[in-house]
Amino acid sequence: MSEETTKEKEESKPSISFIEQFIIEDLKEGKNDGRIHTRFPPEPNGYLHIGHAKAICLDFGMAQKFGGKCNLRFDDTNPVKEEVEYIDSIKEDIRWLGFDWEEREFYASDYFGKLFDFAIDLIKRGLAYVDDQPADVISAQKGTLTQPGVISSFRKRSVAENLDLFYRMNEGEFEEGSRVLRAKIDMSSPNMLMRDPIIYRILKSPHHRTGEKWKVYPMYDFAHGQSDYFEGITHSLCTLEFEVHRPLYDWLIDQLKTSDYRPRQIEFNRLNLTYTMMSKRKLLELVLEGKVNGWDDPRMPTLCGLRRRGYTPESIRRFIDLIGYTKFEAINDVLLLEHAVREDLNIRVPRVFGVLDPLKVTITNYPRDKVEEVEIINNPEDESMGKRKVPFCNEVLIEREDFMENPPHKFFRLAPGAEVRLKGAYIIKCDSFRKNEKTGVVEEVFCTYDPATRSGGGTSDKKVKGTLHWVSARHAIDAEVRLYDRLFDHEDPAGQKDDDYRKFLNPDSLKILSDCKLEPSLRFAKPFDKFQFQRLGYFCVDYDSTKDHLVFNRTVSLKDTWAKMKK
Ligand code: ATP
Ligand code: MG
Repeated sequence: MSEETTKEKEESKPSISFIEQFIIEDLKEGKNDGRIHTRFPPEPNGYLHIGHAKAICLDFGMAQKFGGKCNLRFDDTNPVKEEVEYIDSIKEDIRWLGFDWEEREFYASDYFGKLFDFAIDLIKRGLAYVDDQPADVISAQKGTLTQPGVISSFRKRSVAENLDLFYRMNEGEFEEGSRVLRAKIDMSSPNMLMRDPIIYRILKSPHHRTGEKWKVYPMYDFAHGQSDYFEGITHSLCTLEFEVHRPLYDWLIDQLKTSDYRPRQIEFNRLNLTYTMMSKRKLLELVLEGKVNGWDDPRMPTLCGLRRRGYTPESIRRFIDLIGYTKFEAINDVLLLEHAVREDLNIRVPRVFGVLDPLKVTITNYPRDKVEEVEIINNPEDESMGKRKVPFCNEVLIEREDFMENPPHKFFRLAPGAEVRLKGAYIIKCDSFRKNEKTGVVEEVFCTYDPATRSGGGTSDKKVKGTLHWVSARHAIDAEVRLYDRLFDHEDPAGQKDDDYRKFLNPDSLKILSDCKLEPSLRFAKPFDKFQFQRLGYFCVDYDSTKDHLVFNRTVSLKDTWAKMKK
């Protein structure tokens, strides 16, 4: 994204969204007696991803803002793909994001009875019929955008015969796929969804909530709009692809409603993110094929993956705020998401010392048996986070890349003859180093320190350009650190021609470092605790972590490309 478009985007973002404006207008006009009632309607066939967070923030956010309510409703119309595991995870993720549906946890399956009765009513009114043709024939008869559909020979069936067949469909008398119930609307409608859509099908799998009770199940399109209606939803907020479904929902509600009330559907653009994909079906494939380690793999765009990676709910809500809601499909830059989490963690988490790739430094003029505790500020952005003590002795570990035998110009780190400050401690000077004779790898660097340069108490006013993080070699604790990179090396892996996102999987998306050394204060870090490792990035304790084997995930590095682009 160029500098200018980025800037434009930020500046042109309206302070309130078009959706909010619609709601305000409705309130002014006194619609629904001033009631605001929204819902978040997930289908429990996968884990929530960050795209869902955009819908959640809007549904719950609008209700909060206007003193209304927001229901959680599981659109569980397909017993084949749905699982209780998904329901539990969805609830956990919404709560984690900071929203509450109170006692209003509903299921489309709560309305199977009402929906069945409504279907019967449509049949009796000559507005629905049983079609015996197989699905592929029905679909072939749909016609095209320029050609009307073919009228099914079963469209003329009598009400009595339709009723009889539909009841028997639900008794389990017929095979799956052998018959469907269709709404009788208009086979030549310019809107293909109005060409006698299927509203009920036979499915013989037991349902996770209604068990064996039903043998026919409503199609999503037959359940969704009416469920909103049954719940008294005032504003049905959904993504743009449902715009073309709106006439069908309206037609169905027209047949159902007994007053002026109807839910108002407002569509907004989906959240898409660069270098990943949002389809639950494809994310499930990644899980089942073992391309990632489960739904909560920290590389996944799922909310549980982001949580495990170290994202905070605040950072996700902030990101959603920044991208806003529009009527145009777009792909959002993952750099903005990373920027949001950096900004949040910057002020919230302590800064500590961790060395990912250790190189030993021996300070030859520091007494061997001496240990000092140097005091370090936990977060300069927030004094209230206090200070902590870190042990210092004659053997410290620094980052291997902070030493160079033959440094280029302007390498302000350690090199033969060079001086650097060990953060919070002393200035040291490199006198010599030792290499492994066989491999040529530097194994130890020898330095001398200047006792007058102690941070915060020294008498010397010597200044050096480089400051390094370090840990005491004798006190450091071991840790495994998992570095993550983008899961895909293509900006839009799922949007390509042949639909094979797999070939864009980044082979280097996970790097495990098993020999990292951390300052001893991290010994008691618990899963989900978050830290900035100075000069390196933000890290979060993984739930694989134990007292004896600490594991950290890198959330993001410190380099904020987004902020740089903005400048
Ligand atoms: P997927 O395509 O990932 O399977 P879905 O739309 O089928 O998603 P649902 O469980 O039906 O998933 O979604 C619940 C709600 O979340 C819907 O209102 C849907 O519009 C919204 N939603 C889903 N994906 C996104 C997204 N990428 N951005 C914004 N809202 C989304
Ligand atoms: Mg859906």
